[in-house]
Amino acid sequence: MRGVVFLGERKLELREFPDPAPGPGEVVIAIKASGMCGSDLHPYRAVGNAAGALGLGGSGGPVIGGHEPCGVVAAVGPGVSEAEARVGQRVMNHHYWGCGQCKYCRVGWSQLCKKGIVVYGMTGHGAHAPYMKVPVRTLVPLPEALSFEEGAAISCGTGTAYGALKRLDVSGRDTLAVFGQGPVGLSATQLGTAMGARVIAVDIAPERRQLAREFGAEAVIDPRETDPAKALRELTHGEGVEAALDCTGNPDARLAAIRSACTWGRVGFVGEGNNVTIDVSQDMIRKQLTILASWTFSSVGQEECARFIADRRIPLRKLLTHHFKLDEAAHAYQLFDTQTTGKGVFLF
Ligand SMILES: [Zn+2]
Ligand SMILES: [Zn+2]
Repeated sequence: MRGVVFLGERKLELREFPDPAPGPGEVVIAIKASGMCGSDLHPYRAVGNAAGALGLGGSGGPVIGGHEPCGVVAAVGPGVSEAEARVGQRVMNHHYWGCGQCKYCRVGWSQLCKKGIVVYGMTGHGAHAPYMKVPVRTLVPLPEALSFEEGAAISCGTGTAYGALKRLDVSGRDTLAVFGQGPVGLSATQLGTAMGARVIAVDIAPERRQLAREFGAEAVIDPRETDPAKALRELTHGEGVEAALDCTGNPDARLAAIRSACTWGRVGFVGEGNNVTIDVSQDMIRKQLTILASWTFSSVGQEECARFIADRRIPLRKLLTHHFKLDEAAHAYQLFDTQTTGKGVFLF
């Protein structure tokens, strides 16, 4: 089979790999949809070992990209019971694997394992290929009501938004500011609205702000036109928002998220990379501010996110704006790298 390998410096190639066969405790997924996530742009753009740059370890050797896997079980290895997986089952993949035994792995947070982790699509073969071999315990059931492409989105970007909103304890009592309306931010706008919050979306791109309105944002702000913290205070009787989420990783946006939060407010960071400098007394202590970080979700959280979306009939499919065949990978990533409204997915 052929799989996409990121070469760095905005190059990728479709390379030949042997078809995977499941070993003990493993399954092979026939991939039906494989999403493109913002963090794929790190190995795509990288000079040198991109996984290393994200603090994910790995040898830097060639791996198949794609960490939003969704498909059906195609083959089951020795020792895998019928209850764990059966051929034809619709599944997502929690795209991490650790030791399988520690207190993090056992509760589905294998990315927090201290004994070394595999991140599928970064340090282990991912889903930008027709088949993907994984430990059976990484499978997450895909509800019947959801399409494969929706399952792919949940497997990183949308699930990350859900995990962060849950950590921020977002509810109908909150005004929620979402900084950045890429695939994660748009998901946060859509899910935050479904959780009852009044959502205000911030992005520099007019097309993304338009999409944010369609996804439920009550108001949108262009941070190049107006100071977003000031605009958000004006929209909240001078108080600031109860919850703010940064999905950009941009230092200015992070600072604006902090400064837009009200006294006792909560601020979440999910955008990767970069830095921020804050005035701890003025920006945090005087406001009793809570700042938290959220790294994706557990395998259990992934299942919960899928159920939430299915049960509330949230039209997540609207997020999937660009559909590609694997042969179009070079074009797809070039597009994603330069013009970015909505989300791309490879269909098989
Ligand atoms: Zn572990
Ligand atoms: Zn991702």
